[in-house]
Amino acid sequence: MSPARMQTFASVDGVREAVRGWRACAQTVVLVPTMGNLHRGHLELVQLAARVADRVVVSIFVNPTQFGAGEDFERYPRTPREDEAALESSGVVDAVFAPHVDQMYPFGIGDAVRIALPPLAHELCGASRPGHFDGVGTVVCRLLNAVTPDALVLGRKDYQQLVLVERMVADLRLPVRVISGPTVRDADGLAMSSRNRYLDAEERVRAPALPRALQAVKRALETGRRDFATLEQSAMRALREAGFEPDYVAIRRAADLGQPSGQEAAAELLVLGAARLGAARLIDNTSD
Ligand code: AMP
Repeated sequence: MSPARMQTFASVDGVREAVRGWRACAQTVVLVPTMGNLHRGHLELVQLAARVADRVVVSIFVNPTQFGAGEDFERYPRTPREDEAALESSGVVDAVFAPHVDQMYPFGIGDAVRIALPPLAHELCGASRPGHFDGVGTVVCRLLNAVTPDALVLGRKDYQQLVLVERMVADLRLPVRVISGPTVRDADGLAMSSRNRYLDAEERVRAPALPRALQAVKRALETGRRDFATLEQSAMRALREAGFEPDYVAIRRAADLGQPSGQEAAAELLVLGAARLGAARLIDNTSD
């Protein structure tokens, strides 16, 4: 259903009311949560969303509770006008939900009710970003409660986030279907990310070494190798040689990000990595 006009809501009551109206007409609703500074990766998720429900809501909220002390919350790129224009010209967005922090955390950040996710939240990216995924769980719960969608669309670019949100939805029996979309990449293989703008020109040229290193591990798995630690360490070495400071390269079970036993087929395995390059912390995985 193509929207007559995209509406923008800053309040929970406003967006909830719009969704209530649609549901009263038996229309289904999908939410695409973002932190804004939209790129083609986000816009592909929006198009995917439009194929799974009658009405598309995109949220734009830079969530303070998922940033650690000393992380980039303050300087995270905020481009609300460009974002609204891009969503409007997508032609498929019915509503933008762009709340102020007071709408999302009415009792303040310090006194907020929080989600504590299972132990996977403290591994991989969670090991270098303490509290990050609990902040993601907290805001996703609040966004679901505000928008009350039938479906939620997330990118596989943030694979650990996807697995943890799927788990939260299943464990809390939240009445929402989680749908994932593929990672959209630049021509040289670098996954699109709002944080790529922290790279200078020279770093940007080197950045595709991250997807290349992860793909090299994936190919080794496909040839039958199961010496996981050696493969992970050699990818980390390749990244250091390319000027990165890797946080981790890890081979995990794709289904739940658990530690693999070595008996899995290559298709059941996923290679994930995170590494700093200059001022940017880049993440990627081999799901797409
Ligand atoms: P963000 O604005 O970075 O919080 O991302 C919002 C949503 O877009 C998340 O579900 C991300 O996984 C997804 N996303 C970010 N980058 C990409 C990309 N390059 N391709 C596909 N989805 C992406």
